[in-house]
Amino acid sequence: MTIPVSQWHVNAWQQLQAGRRQQRLPHALLVSGEAGIGKAAFADRLAASLLCEQPREDGQACGTCPACQRLAAQTHPDRLRLEPEEPGKPIKVDMVRQLIQHLSLTGHYGGYRVVTVEPAEMMNTNAANAFLKTLEEPPASTLLILITASPARLPATIRSRCQPMRLTSPDPQTALAWLQQEAPDSAPQEAELALRLAAGAPRLAAHYLREGWLEVRQQLIEALIGCAHGRTDPLAAAATAQEALKLDRQLPIHWMYHWVADLIRLAYDENNIKNNDMTGELQALPTPVEYSALHHLLDKLQQARRLTETTINPQLLWEDLMIDWAGLFSARRV
Ligand SMILES: [Zn+2]
Repeated sequence: MTIPVSQWHVNAWQQLQAGRRQQRLPHALLVSGEAGIGKAAFADRLAASLLCEQPREDGQACGTCPACQRLAAQTHPDRLRLEPEEPGKPIKVDMVRQLIQHLSLTGHYGGYRVVTVEPAEMMNTNAANAFLKTLEEPPASTLLILITASPARLPATIRSRCQPMRLTSPDPQTALAWLQQEAPDSAPQEAELALRLAAGAPRLAAHYLREGWLEVRQQLIEALIGCAHGRTDPLAAAATAQEALKLDRQLPIHWMYHWVADLIRLAYDENNIKNNDMTGELQALPTPVEYSALHHLLDKLQQARRLTETTINPQLLWEDLMIDWAGLFSARRV
């Protein structure tokens, strides 16, 4: 089966296919763009296209030849991936060395070899240095595809040796139509909300819907509301946040940040808040809170976002945040 290239990436696709026909494909490509817009899917299609024995006229893989079948079974020896062992962990130098050793041998089928590095910014310093040598002396008939949402976090020496390919999000209408096809069981309002929370990135929105993130977000706001009214103990609310952390280390803090920011915005213009599906919940909180205290909590949340990238104990972090949150309202309740 052939899965077409996302409609919103067709221009980038055609540009690469034209380069291929003129035998002017680069040795290395730096595919960048916001999280959740389909960068990895694009790289997968490109890899399939280069490995396929009889690609279609538009360059897409046929989906049926022996090479395509090996790819589908994930047994194609010329399709290589460099990625962390677990999300959030670095790509280490040993993994790069293994790859380099593999690339020093000739390809198994005499055609292209395609390597994807994702997320490329997760290569640690030693790994990046080792990888740089491969970029400086690229092996023949090999395409290295570096994938990243944060190209600025890659060393300039690596960036300068790759052809940049920045992929963009689709317009909102295209994104919503795609998402509704992808997640037909979701209500239209849910699809719209997921898309908004994903800042318009359709694949990220589909992931939110599939993994039940909207429900988890609802549980977290309910825990916060319970805390504000004194019904929920801050430590119990922190435990709810711990559940949300199973999905993502940063996202629950990101949500809370925007709820607090919305509480500040509500004072000026209720039509301009980010979480407009939660206007009612936010307006029902005990008021008025001290705005200086809200700003203080915002600063703390911003700091907490950075701390999640360290070895900080998330339970203590969340208990601290929830106690501060409850404290905003404790003097206001009667
Ligand atoms: Zn094929």
